[in-house]
Amino acid sequence: MTVKTRFAPSPTGVLHIGGARTALFSWLFARHHGGEFALRIEDTDRERSTEESVQAILDGMAWLGLDHDGEVVFQTQRFDRYGELIQQLLDEGKAYYCTCSKERLEKLREEQMAAGEKPRYDGKCRHANIPAGTPGAVVRFKNPLEGEVSFHDHVRGGITVGNAELDDLIIARADGTPTYNFTVVVDDMDMGMTHVIRGDDHINNTPRQINLYQALGVTPPAFAHVPMILGDDGSRLSKRHGAVGVMQYAEDGYLPEAVLNYLVRLGWSHGDQEIFSREEMIRLFDLKGINRAPSTFNTSKLNWLNQHYIQQADNARLAALLAERLKKMKLAVPEGMNLEDVVALFKERSVTINDMAEQARFLFEPISDYDAKADKKIFRAAALEPLQTLRQRLAEIENWQEVDLHAVIEQVVNDLGVGFGKVGQPLRLALTGKSGGPANDVILRLLGKDESLRRIDQAIAHLQRNL
Ligand code: GLU
Repeated sequence: MTVKTRFAPSPTGVLHIGGARTALFSWLFARHHGGEFALRIEDTDRERSTEESVQAILDGMAWLGLDHDGEVVFQTQRFDRYGELIQQLLDEGKAYYCTCSKERLEKLREEQMAAGEKPRYDGKCRHANIPAGTPGAVVRFKNPLEGEVSFHDHVRGGITVGNAELDDLIIARADGTPTYNFTVVVDDMDMGMTHVIRGDDHINNTPRQINLYQALGVTPPAFAHVPMILGDDGSRLSKRHGAVGVMQYAEDGYLPEAVLNYLVRLGWSHGDQEIFSREEMIRLFDLKGINRAPSTFNTSKLNWLNQHYIQQADNARLAALLAERLKKMKLAVPEGMNLEDVVALFKERSVTINDMAEQARFLFEPISDYDAKADKKIFRAAALEPLQTLRQRLAEIENWQEVDLHAVIEQVVNDLGVGFGKVGQPLRLALTGKSGGPANDVILRLLGKDESLRRIDQAIAHLQRNL
């Protein structure tokens, strides 16, 4: 049997972390078994479904590299098929028309609640033989009245629900459009799904869906319901926790492999291993490793992983990402500056590409302000001579290379008979506007001779004004 799984998002927003995690688990399970992974857009709710959301889902999947097999299936293109099967159930006496008004259902609900009962449809129209074409009629599925539904959930284990707990659910609305529980069954059946891996917010739907499979005469797929994701305050993950769409992470300078690695560990484990390459995830993924307890979103872990993958990544690739980011920040790369050199300088200390761009910002724009604390502490009278001497010696350098630049700095230190910091600190502040950062010789080389001298002059003028 070829394993077939699917991801079936409703296009009513971005691809959020929870959805991406469900998609990843389904994708991994299919790839692990050499099976197929389908993408189905559940867009029957026409009011809430949007084109932009479909695109956001496709973009998110593509960014994460979760490729699907075959064409994307859109439920709105399958109305004829749903209609056909609704008719089949009606013809076979497995479904019926119901004309109970909203008011009646509301009243029923209130009475049941007042009596401490679970609100459910009472089956008034089940035997009323309401004919087709009756205005305002919905179609309800005749759920079995007796017995129970049992299934083995691959995460939760055995689940049994009495049919008495399940009422006759609506499978087609008065306007003829089919409802979620029906379309999902028809699609999973027609698409030959062997395993349905989805969020456990659907676990209560599963027994109803199993009854529908039986009414349609097919064996249901296997189910695995993945526990939800909590924010670090223990409440259900939401925008408040910064857990926005997957593409926001791209926007924020995260690498897709870091997000993927983060997602796989959000509710799945393999011993205490934390780092998984894509190939390793595929090789090791199993439903047994899905945790039963909800998992907690943890931004510092994502940051840790991102930093790890930045360090592993090829400089040319990072340079391209950095270039994109700088463009968004409206910062131009000076002629002659190789962004791969910038990457090499900052990759060990950057959490995200955006962080790298921020740290390297001084290379791409003139210094407009000096860090106030550093200014006060470093740009004192004692800094004037070192800066002036450096200015003079650096101007004489013809071969603007790190070795020569380094030699000049050392020479100045020796000639002035001061500690290295007395020369290095004012120089770094002059070049970067800050007190910390990479080595001066590298910064000098990257900035180039003209710009370096200009910055030193600017610092000397600033310092003299303040004396
Ligand atoms: N469309 C449903 C949702 O976005 C998923 C249905 C399913 O996976 O069975 O929640």
